Amino acid sequence: MKTITLINGDGIGPEISDAVVKIIDASGLKIDWDIQTAGADVIETEGTPLPERVLNSIKKNKIALKAPVTTPIGKGFRSVNVQLRKSLDLYANLRPCKNLPNVKTRFDNVDIVVVRENTEDLYAGVERQVDDDTAESIKIITRKASERICKFAFDYAVKNGRKEVCVVTKANIMKLSDGLFLECYRKISENYPQIKTREILVDNLCMQLVQNPSQFDVLVLPNLYGDIVSDLCAGLIGGLGVAQGANIGLDCAVFEPVHGSAPDIKGQNKANPTALLLSAIEMLRYIGENIYAEKIENALFKTLESGICTADLGGNTSTSEFADAIIANL
Ligand code: ATP
Repeated sequence: MKTITLINGDGIGPEISDAVVKIIDASGLKIDWDIQTAGADVIETEGTPLPERVLNSIKKNKIALKAPVTTPIGKGFRSVNVQLRKSLDLYANLRPCKNLPNVKTRFDNVDIVVVRENTEDLYAGVERQVDDDTAESIKIITRKASERICKFAFDYAVKNGRKEVCVVTKANIMKLSDGLFLECYRKISENYPQIKTREILVDNLCMQLVQNPSQFDVLVLPNLYGDIVSDLCAGLIGGLGVAQGANIGLDCAVFEPVHGSAPDIKGQNKANPTALLLSAIEMLRYIGENIYAEKIENALFKTLESGICTADLGGNTSTSEFADAIIANL
């Protein structure tokens, strides 16, 4: 039996992880969940929102499913999410964005995978106050990080039957930094003659995405553009309740929804578990459990097709009722 770390999070985290674990268990797949608490709730007892035991569990099991975890503001704690990514060197942020049945959006046929570099760019945190009226942030792009994220994107494309990997930069203005990212993309692409290449500037990409998103397949981007564009793509398919994600490194992978802990609806049994469920489905594919991934995905689609959905998608089904409906469709 496969052991997987489960971080059930805080806010709506426990409600949606209960729903998802129940659905996976009901599918017949046996998973030994190594449950690890983290976030605001453990600070009192353990002095940190991300205790070492959580990292050790992921390092041991290699795979984690993570519900949202809140980092308390203004208490001097570093973001749990950023710390996790750094400590485990989860260099690739993967966000598949695909239309779901019965979820009304502006466009049909959106099926985009955003691959975002997760470790450097303006997120390296190299900032300084030059004087009272001037601050500067340094954008760091390295060959090593750029090549490995481009390789990740092309490997993903090959493994998942994708046709094109499009690189997104502003290399016409940031000739050295984005220029280096582009150069790495071009070099890596030579090893994948079966995958089509495309180069686009980030401003043009944004316009094209809101006019005709179905022209895009896999996108690979440096960290900051990746952050912004992946939220845009989440909006194209119905918003936070359905936006899945994963942070993947050479050794470990953490699958998690894009949304936060939604404290405004905590404990009300009305959160949408779909984003976490889709993250879990991608996780099952990642560990080779494709049959169960498909079985659960089909049950989710059938449930949505029948008009059952949570309040964020215009329905009136509770979190637990939604999970039960999916289980009935398995
Ligand atoms: P954080 O700082 O933890 O990311 P946030 O407040 O910026 O939190 P979210 O927690 O993602 O962002 O919530 C944004 C809005 O989306 C809230 O109104 C929340 O209720 C809603 N929301 C987020 N996730 C879900 C979900 N799974 N189901 C229903 N509504 C959700």
